[in-house]
Amino acid sequence: MKIIIQGPQACGKGTQARLLAQKYGWMHFEMGKILRSIVHSDNPYASKIKDTLNSGDLVPDELVRLIAWDFVKKNYTKGIVFEGYPRSVAQYEQLQEMLKKFNKRIDALISIDIPEAESIARMSDRRTCVKCGRIYSLSVDGNLTNCECGGELILREDDKPEAIKKRLQIYHQQTRHVFEKAKAEGIAIEIDGMHPIAEVHEKICTSLA
Ligand SMILES: [Zn+2]
Repeated sequence: MKIIIQGPQACGKGTQARLLAQKYGWMHFEMGKILRSIVHSDNPYASKIKDTLNSGDLVPDELVRLIAWDFVKKNYTKGIVFEGYPRSVAQYEQLQEMLKKFNKRIDALISIDIPEAESIARMSDRRTCVKCGRIYSLSVDGNLTNCECGGELILREDDKPEAIKKRLQIYHQQTRHVFEKAKAEGIAIEIDGMHPIAEVHEKICTSLA
């Protein structure tokens, strides 16, 4: 199966994607993590991507297409859960085109919904591991300073208030349209994200069965 998981910032899509990948043995494609690893490399686009991410803007379609293509061509035989991509209808069409080359397609798009105020509250509570990219919540996980892997936990630049507002705006203006498109294609699933992680996970699994 090929699944897209999306939703407004801090809806829990990263956690849910990881749980799905573990349960079904799928690959977890994390666009944000790949982009951040480029930022920390000596790639010529590193500083440009860094500025774009920090401002909360979308990374150019052509760049995310190349990254996704590199992944898809290596992993198209496997189950994949796509997270952080596609973020616009143009990117969704890109992805479907890529999969089509291997006679595959997106089977379901899961949208995890939470109110905007909840997004903002959760984001300011969020800490990211500088080493492995894992995300923690201070209120849920306790006042941790380090990740399980030993990496330091930080409040990411793109989780700060100005960038959050921009990212929520982009979510509503662009990413939400991906959901509308998937809905028209009959593959959209809406999940209420205002429940405990295990419960949301169960609901997703049931909806995919
Ligand atoms: Zn870590």
